[in-house]
Parts: sequence; C-alpha cells; structure tokens
Amino acid sequence: MYGKNLIDGQWRDGNGTTVTHNPSDLNEQVGTYAVADRSMAAQAIESARKAAPRWAAGNIQQRADLLRGVGDAIGARAEEIGLLLSREEGKTRVEGFAEAKRAAQVFYFFAGETLRQNGLFLPGLRDGHNVIVSREPLGVVSLITPWNFPIAVPAWKTAAALAYGNTVVLKPSEFAPGCSVLLARILTEAGLPDGVFNLVMGNGRELGPTLINGADGVSFTGATDTGRAVLQQAALSMTKTQLELGGKNPLVVLDDADLDQAVQIALDGCFFQTGQRCTATSRLIVTRKIHDAFVDALAARVRALRVGHALDEGTQLGPVATAPQLQKDLMFIERANNDGVECVAGGTRVECRTPGLYLAPTLFIGTHNAMHLNQHEVFGPVVGVTRVDDFEEALAVATDHELALTAGICTNDLRTAERFRHGVRAGMVMVNTPTAGVAYHAPFGGRKPSGFGGRELGAGAVEFFTEGKTSYIHHGVI
Ligand code: NDP
Repeated sequence: MYGKNLIDGQWRDGNGTTVTHNPSDLNEQVGTYAVADRSMAAQAIESARKAAPRWAAGNIQQRADLLRGVGDAIGARAEEIGLLLSREEGKTRVEGFAEAKRAAQVFYFFAGETLRQNGLFLPGLRDGHNVIVSREPLGVVSLITPWNFPIAVPAWKTAAALAYGNTVVLKPSEFAPGCSVLLARILTEAGLPDGVFNLVMGNGRELGPTLINGADGVSFTGATDTGRAVLQQAALSMTKTQLELGGKNPLVVLDDADLDQAVQIALDGCFFQTGQRCTATSRLIVTRKIHDAFVDALAARVRALRVGHALDEGTQLGPVATAPQLQKDLMFIERANNDGVECVAGGTRVECRTPGLYLAPTLFIGTHNAMHLNQHEVFGPVVGVTRVDDFEEALAVATDHELALTAGICTNDLRTAERFRHGVRAGMVMVNTPTAGVAYHAPFGGRKPSGFGGRELGAGAVEFFTEGKTSYIHHGVI
C-alpha cells in the first residue's frame, strides 16, 4: 500500500517516505508512507482549527449517524484491516481480526455517547439565580499512538474525540501506520467534513512539539519515558494532556487458586499477542504450596505454544513486532541469565519458515522483585516467577513497583480477592481473569506513572475530551 498524509481533506505527499516490513517475513515490504515534516504538522493543526467551530456546533444526530457509519465500514472491512495489521505488526490472524472488530464496536459506543452528553442544573444560592454546568469540546486534539494496537488505539481516541465535538490530528507510530491510513480513508468516505480529521505520519520527536503545542489537548499512548517528554513539552503551552503509559503488571496466584484456570490466565496474560500489551502480565507472584505445580504446568504450556508466521494456520504467537523490540527482549533474557535465575521455557530466538523476528516465549523461575527483569517493562514474551510465602507478601510484592496499570489475582476466596482489589495499587484489577483484555465501555488507564490526566474509554472519556463551563444565571425572582 502507499499511504499519504491527510490534511484539510487533501491526500498529501510528504518530505520523503518510510517503508514498513512484515515482522513475520522481513523480505516482504508491507507499505510505503509519506513522511510529514513540522510545517505539514502545523498545516494539519491549522486545518483542524479551521474546521473546529462548525464541527462543534454540528447536529449531534448527524454526528452520531456518521460515527455509526464509520463503525459499519470498519466492521465490513475488518478482514482487510486485520490482515494489514497482522502483516505490519505481527499479531496472528485471529488477533488482528478481533482488534479490527473491536475498533468498529468502539465507534458504535461513541456514536451513542454523542447523544448521551449531559450536564448539571443547580438551584442558585442567591434568590433568583440558578447554576448550569455544561460541557464543551476541547477544540483541536492531537492523538499520538503506539505500534502495538495499530487500529484499536487510533480508533478509540478518534471516536471519542469526534463524538464530543473535537477536531483531530492523528500521528500513528512509524512502525505501523497502515491501519491509520485505512481509518483515514474510511472516515473520509463516510463523509466527515474536510479538516475534521487529519493524519500526519513521521517521527514523533520531530513532529511532537508542533502537534502538542498547537493543539488544545493531546492524548498520548506509549512508553512512560516518552510520556514524560510529552508532558514536559505540553507544559510550555499548558496543553491539556492525557497519557496512557507502560505497565509492569503483577498476577498473584494463591495456594487456593484453581490450578488449571490459573495456568490458563497466566498463559494468556503473559504471552498472547506476543506479550506486547501494556496490560500484559509481566510479574508472576506465586505462593509456596502451589508454586511447583503451577510452574511445571505453566512451563509445559509455554513450551507447547506454536510460534510462527502471523498468518499461518495454527500459529499461536506471532513474531516480535519490531527489530529494536526484539533486541530489547533479548537483552532482558541475557540480564536474567546473568542474574543466575533458571529459564524453564524459551530463552532463544526461533527459526520459522520465513525470516522473521521470532522469539520463543520465555519463563524464568526463582526471580525476586528487585531484579532487572521484574523492575523494567519488557513489552515482550519474557516473564519471571517470584515465590512468596503468603497473601500478605504477595500483595506487598505486587505493589512494590512504581508502574500501576493492571494487577490480577487467582484465588477461590472472595474475601481475599476483595482485600487484594482494595489494597493493590493499580488502575485496573482483575480477579480470576487475565490482566490483559479490557472492555471499551469501562474506564481504562493506570495510576501515575502508568497513566496521567484522565481515563480513556467508557463514558468517562468525556472528562478529557471536553471542558466544563459553570454558568450563573440571574433570571430574577419568579
Ligand atoms: P513510544 O513511546 O516509543 O511511541 C509512541 C508514540 O509516540 C509513537 O507515535 C512515537 O512516534 C511518538 N513519539 C516518540 N517520541 C515522541 C516525542 N518526544 N513527542 C511526541 N511523540 C513522540 O511507544 P511504542 O510505540 O514503542 O509503544 C510501546 C509502549 O507503549 C510501551 O511502553 C507500552 O506499555 C505503551 N502502551 C501503553 C498503553 C496504555 O494504554 N497504557 C497501550 C499500548 C502501549 P515514532 O515512534 O513513530 O517516532
């Protein structure tokens, strides 16, 4: 495919091009994309600014209908989008299709939200007064997205931004911009007015300052360090900022857990989507009595996972998405080996039928929380198990990390589960279900430094994408 930038309704070439390759087969070129420079980013912001008043004042039934139409179009093209996603990012065919379907559902949800915006009416404290609290669109929002959910994250930010009356400039990751190009085409074909949605592709560090400082809001998903840079940049213009960042998510398995269920939950949370989910389980914390049985069963299941070309029938784990990410995963494995812990599954690259970025899912045991492996986000299929004595120690270890996105527990004791839910420091808690896998109608996000500035998804998305206005009306005594 050849993808161009979209600015003010015009498909625009850029200042050179960038090429993506299939991580399942590095010989296969997937897309060529026009790269925008700072002046094009500024034009995109200007175009969104010009389109903002009409879009904000537009009829909400028409807006809802349009967003529903976008959902229909994404759903109808889910196979095409999923296939491109698998080829560019490396998710399996099933995972790619499911993500595309999810993007359609998100548009349906926010189509409904367009009609569900409400405010507050308060009786005034002074006679003859009342108070109205209403919400208004932020204005122009820049959306900056990562490579690991190349359709879902652009879709959920765009759908919410548009539903609440904002105009958009989207900048996807250079590693996987293809799905954002398809999204831009779908939005255009659905009849979105020129300038309401703009797409610029290119390097984040280069385009970031223009996109951040020119907008009224920036919604960013990516690594925690990048998020810090975005926040520092946003401080210069006091741009409202929403950051969805990294995780180091613990899964606690207690002695009373259902063993088979716990193993399945750990397998899914740690390794599916090649562990490249911000919500992936990346610390397994297991109490003493169940530890050996759990580790034996999990290691057997991990070794049996079929790694392969994302589009091959029967592949359960696609490749690592990018070469730098694979290097990072291997570095974590080397550090863990040097730390002297035992590797019970994986630990090496895998040869498949095509030259790709394949890594065997890797499980270490005998780790402790202070180790490098447990202290830093891997963002790949590499996980360590830490053995603890009891629930109290498990909770302490689970909470002993600055990142706080999701946390999970496997137990059959409702009271213990509730103590965990109450006590653990995390934005989302999972009881007897994987740490990854979230719903679009519920708030999504972590505590600092995993997240900052308001949750995404669900009805609460309105908080970031709108500004409140409190009006005091002196209507006179009646
Ligand atoms: P990065 O932080 O590297 O990049 C994310 C986006 O930010 C990309 O579009 C990138 O552009 C852009 N960018 C890079 N530098 C800057 C800058 N200085 N100013 C503005 N934008 C910039 O993340 P990855 O793409 O590597 O994604 C992986 C990370 O995302 C993981 O840490 C993961 O935990 C996190 N993540 C968090 C989620 C959440 O909701 N909490 C969900 C999914 C992922 P480019 O790279 O194209 O130059």
